[in-house]
Amino acid sequence: MQKPTKEFCVVGHKKPDSDSICSAIAYTYYLNKKGNKATACRTGEINKETEFILDRFNFEKPELLKSAKGKNLILVDHNEKKQAPDDVDQATLVQIIDHHKVNFSHDKPISFYIEPIGATSSIVAKQFLKDPKVELTKEIAGLLLSAILSDTVIFRSPTTTREDIIIAKTLAQEADIEKIEDFGIEIKKKKSSLKGLKIKDIILGDFKEYDFDKKTIGCGQVEVVDLKEVNEKEEGIKKELEKIAKKRDYELLVFLATDIIKKGSKVLFWEKDNYMEKTFSKKPKDNSFYLEGVMSRKKQIIPPLTKTFKE
Ligand code: MN
Ligand code: MN
Repeated sequence: MQKPTKEFCVVGHKKPDSDSICSAIAYTYYLNKKGNKATACRTGEINKETEFILDRFNFEKPELLKSAKGKNLILVDHNEKKQAPDDVDQATLVQIIDHHKVNFSHDKPISFYIEPIGATSSIVAKQFLKDPKVELTKEIAGLLLSAILSDTVIFRSPTTTREDIIIAKTLAQEADIEKIEDFGIEIKKKKSSLKGLKIKDIILGDFKEYDFDKKTIGCGQVEVVDLKEVNEKEEGIKKELEKIAKKRDYELLVFLATDIIKKGSKVLFWEKDNYMEKTFSKKPKDNSFYLEGVMSRKKQIIPPLTKTFKE
């Protein structure tokens, strides 16, 4: 008699990025090698960067999950219900593997694995590296390496750990990729082109809102490999910032164009008071300045602004 197998669906967060998609595919592969029946899923369309990675290493797009009802779910790269499939409450949660801050509670015990590391794909890679019974193929190694390079912005993001770099080097060897940095830039270029995008979509594509008492601020970010396209669109972006801020009644609206090669951000903003000058001790020129070394919204922009707004 055959051993009974469990069926799992491995899914990343909404608006999937490369880490969500690649870690889901790789972990699904791992589970299946261990005798399970797992399927990699996604809850939305993949971006150009992820498309490039999947093509490069010969993987299909994960299945689009229309409903999670009745499924055994494994969540990767997120632990907040808001980012999980809409009907997650009608599914059985089996496991979570993630590297974000914990914002989770559940009525049953589940396997919950969180680590402060640069990418969920680093955690999945470690699973392969410590299990000699499951072969780490060239393709899986390339897939995981790509996602780590994407999530850590080629090790430039302050979320990068020493372990991410060691894991990435091992994966690069397995995948026969000699120049990690060049490969990372090739990946990042796929998503960084602003061509054909409406200005509103450039600002709101990767966007977060933050509430302070009765004041709300918004912050959008793009990562580019050079600032030329942003400089050309500067006036249009500023006009759109004002429009969005007034419509949504923001106290401050910030747009970061992060140059991942030069490791800094051009910052454009619209504000009701001189919050930006106060926060970053820098005189703006026409509602704009450049912040050397600033790449992370989460670690370098929002914490000092929070301080300003809470004073
Ligand atoms: Mn992610
Ligand atoms: Mn991630």
